[in-house]
Amino acid sequence: MKRRKSRPVTPRPLAGMSSHFKKDGSPKVAYRTQREAQESAQATWTLHGLDLQTYRCDYCHQWHMGKAFREE
Ligand SMILES: [Zn+2]
Repeated sequence: MKRRKSRPVTPRPLAGMSSHFKKDGSPKVAYRTQREAQESAQATWTLHGLDLQTYRCDYCHQWHMGKAFREE
């Protein structure tokens, strides 16, 4: 019986331009620093209970927030 090793959750950039645009095609809010993005993510957690991660965008080289992705 195999046991899965628990891996540390590391934020990673999402592939391509999909990390810069929402599903509806509009650009996401961009933050110049990771700290700004994290502070906004923290506020979202406080207000809405949504766990967001921050990542640097390959497209605009700023920071965005997104839902935490988990491999299933
Ligand atoms: Zn971007």
